[in-house]
Amino acid sequence: MTIDLRSDTVTQPTPAMREAMFSAPLGDDVFGDDPTVNALETKVAELFGMEAALFCPSGTMTNQLAIRTHTRPGDEVICDQLSHIYLYEGGGTMANALVSVALLPGVRGKLTPELIRDAVNNPADPHRPLSRLVSLENTMNKGGGCYYTVPEIAAIQQVCKDHKLVLHLDGARLFNALIETGDSPEAYGQLFDSISICLSKGLGCPVGSLLLGTRDFIAQARRYRKLMGGGWRQAGFLAAAGIYALDHHVNRLKIDHSRARKIGAILEKRPEVEEIYPIDTNIVIFRLPESILATDYVAQLAEKGIRAVTFGKHLVRFVTHLDFTDEHLTELEKRLAV
Ligand SMILES: *Cc1c(COP(=O)(O)O)cnc(C)c1O
Repeated sequence: MTIDLRSDTVTQPTPAMREAMFSAPLGDDVFGDDPTVNALETKVAELFGMEAALFCPSGTMTNQLAIRTHTRPGDEVICDQLSHIYLYEGGGTMANALVSVALLPGVRGKLTPELIRDAVNNPADPHRPLSRLVSLENTMNKGGGCYYTVPEIAAIQQVCKDHKLVLHLDGARLFNALIETGDSPEAYGQLFDSISICLSKGLGCPVGSLLLGTRDFIAQARRYRKLMGGGWRQAGFLAAAGIYALDHHVNRLKIDHSRARKIGAILEKRPEVEEIYPIDTNIVIFRLPESILATDYVAQLAEKGIRAVTFGKHLVRFVTHLDFTDEHLTELEKRLAV
């Protein structure tokens, strides 16, 4: 058996999820009449207490639509230097929205109100790009799955209000944060102007993300989704997986978090592991000594049937998920030891 810890995107739909997909009523979403897509969008908007939602193929698309819709060419987006929107969206932030990016040095990828306040450009100075949007990520992938608390975000929201900035959340793994903290989706709906969530990560769906915001914002994002070729027809098959996952796969995320901590305990005993980032949710990042390259180490793991990704020259990432079981955990410990 292969132990696949590359990402929480590698899961296969469960038999019950496939059943829900096969039996979903379908329509044409570009005409707005796929009942399952509409049900998913309504369900998620209501969950977060936001006006509207838009179902999309990927979290990259929902983030990009948010940035495109909130900004004008020449504006500036403020985010952490480790953000997914900067590092992992193929340059989309700059190419799709024609904006510049102010990259801030947060702690494990988390920004503070002070850092943001200092990065806001004087809007009266025509030399500087117009600061327009702050984008946070929760949980923070490159920071090892750490999360913001609601009071931390509320303080950032205040800075945004003071400077008339829009606040966006890349919540690809927001449900991991909600399960870990006990915070409510409604609290997040109050804090952000727009939120992107992924169904294809910890929730175990094959494909899909949603963008949330006001009715006008989502109507505009829907235009841009079409422009980017993201109008999809009988997408209800995929929406049905999302509805199923929201009903059945949210609470179980705490199991992924507990298995991630158990991986941490296993890694602590490994002589080649120099440092393990604090394990807050389902992501485990560890550091190897200067003498071992992460690419070599990951290749050795692959030979033992363990799949992982490099996360820096000497950093490796494991992510737990729906298809990583206690059996895999036991097997992981054995294989790491040989
Ligand atoms: C996975 C992920 C996304 C979206 O990725 P897609 O593969 O495009 O769905 C966005 N932000 C973060 C932090 C992610 O981990």
